[in-house]
Amino acid sequence: MSAPATSVRVPRYAAALDFNALWQEFPPAPDYFEGPYQRSRDELHAIQDERFLRQMERAWQVPFYRKHWSAAGMQPGDIRSLDDLRRIPPFSVHDLRVELQEEPFWADYIGIDPAADAPMPLIVQTSGGTTGLPRPMIFTPRDREVMNIITGRRLFMQGVRPYDLVQVALSMGLTNGGVLAREGIWKYTGAIPVMTGSGAQTPTRRQIELMRAWKVKHLIGFPAYLKHMGLVARDELGIEPRSLGIKSLIVHLGVDDRGALEELWSADVYDTYGCNECGTMAAECGHKSAMHVFEDAFVMEVNDLETLQPKAQGERGVVFITTLFKHAAPMIRYNMNDVTSWAEGTCACGTHQRGITKIYGRSDNMVKLRGVNVFPEAIGAVISAEPRCNGEYVCVLEGTPGGREDITVMAEARDGSVDAAGLAAELALRLKEALGVKLNVQVVKGGALDPMTGLSQTSKIKRLIDRRSKGAA
Ligand SMILES: [Zn+2]
Repeated sequence: MSAPATSVRVPRYAAALDFNALWQEFPPAPDYFEGPYQRSRDELHAIQDERFLRQMERAWQVPFYRKHWSAAGMQPGDIRSLDDLRRIPPFSVHDLRVELQEEPFWADYIGIDPAADAPMPLIVQTSGGTTGLPRPMIFTPRDREVMNIITGRRLFMQGVRPYDLVQVALSMGLTNGGVLAREGIWKYTGAIPVMTGSGAQTPTRRQIELMRAWKVKHLIGFPAYLKHMGLVARDELGIEPRSLGIKSLIVHLGVDDRGALEELWSADVYDTYGCNECGTMAAECGHKSAMHVFEDAFVMEVNDLETLQPKAQGERGVVFITTLFKHAAPMIRYNMNDVTSWAEGTCACGTHQRGITKIYGRSDNMVKLRGVNVFPEAIGAVISAEPRCNGEYVCVLEGTPGGREDITVMAEARDGSVDAAGLAAELALRLKEALGVKLNVQVVKGGALDPMTGLSQTSKIKRLIDRRSKGAA
C-alpha cells in the first residue's frame, strides 16, 4: 500500500488570512469603539464608498450578478460611487431559490468554482428551510472572520466580558445562529460560550440547572424560548429566575414584550438584527435606543414596499442590505423582506452610525386581510400584553369557500381559572383596535399549542400556519 498522496494542496485556515491587516480594516472590540463607531457621517461614507466599489468589482465576477445586471442593461464601471447604489436592480430570496433549482449547492450566487478556483477552507450554513431544501450560504475565511468580529463587537456592546459564561440556547446545526454565536464569543470577546442549544438538545430543566450551577451571566436565544425557560424555572422547579444573576438576554426581540422579559429575569434585554447570509447587521448598545448598523461592513436601506423609494425617519419600510466585505455570495441590494424604520434622534453612546427601531415583521409573512396588512408579530404583542395569557399564540390563516380569508388567533391561558370565552371576546376587541381588522380568537389551555408552534423542541417557533389551499396561496 502506498503512502497518502503529498501532492494534494490542502488549505489551512490560519494561513488563509492576514489577521493583523483584517483587524485594521474591521477592528474587533474594544478597538472598534474608538474607531469606526466614533466616526462622523462623512468619514463613514468615505469608508463605505471605497469598500462598496471593491465589493462591486467582486460582484461582477459572480455569475448571478453578471446575468441579472447585464439583463438590466448594466455594465461594469456604470456604478461609480455609493451614490449610484439605487440604480442597481435589487433581488430577493426568490431569485436565490431559482438558482438553487439548477444547482442546489454551488449555486451561481456563491461565485466559487471548485473546478477552477484554488481550494480554501470553506464552511456552509443554511436558511431554516421551512419549504424545500435549505438555502446554502458558503463563507470564505475572510467572510467568516468579519462576521465573527461583528458578533464580538455586538456582544461587547451588550456587556459581555472576558471569563463571562454565555449560554447559547440556539441549535448548533445547519443554521447560522448558534454556530456564529459560538465563534464570535470564543474568538472575539474572551467570554466562554456554553452551547446548550435548543430544548431538544438540552432539556429546559437541565439548561436551568447548568445556568445556576455554573453561574452563567448572559443568555442568547429566541425571546419565546427564554421566556419559556424562565417560566419552567419559576413554576416547575421553584427557582426564581430573578435570583439566578443573569445580566443580559441577547435576542432578536422584534415586537416581543421587552418589559415582561426583563421583569421575569431581572436582566437587560438587548435587541439584535441579523440573518443567515450576513450575520449580525445591527444591534442595540447599552442605551437600548436603537439598533446601530455596523456601517463599516454594511450599507442598509429602508425602502417602500411597493415604490422601493427610500423611507424617511420613523416611516416603516423594507430592509435592503448591501455587504461591504463578502467574497463568496456578496449581497448587493438584497431585499431582506424585514419591515423596520430608521430611529430618530441620536443615541447617548455618541455613535453617528444610523440606527433602526425594531423589526416589525416579515413582509412575506405579512397577510393582507380585507385590505389591511397584518403581521403575526403584531398579534403576538397584543397577546403578550394580556396577563391572563402566558404569551404563547399561533395564527391560523384559512380561506373560506366564498373566497374570503380569515385568521384565527389561538392563545394559551395562563392557568385553569381563566374564563376562556370571555377572554377570547376581549382579545378580539383589542386586536380589532390594534390592527384595524376583525380576527377570530380562541383561548386554549397552557401547552396546548406546543405541537403547532414547536416551542419546546425547536428554536424556530412557528407563529403563522397557512391552511389556505395551494392555489389561493
Ligand atoms: Zn447607542
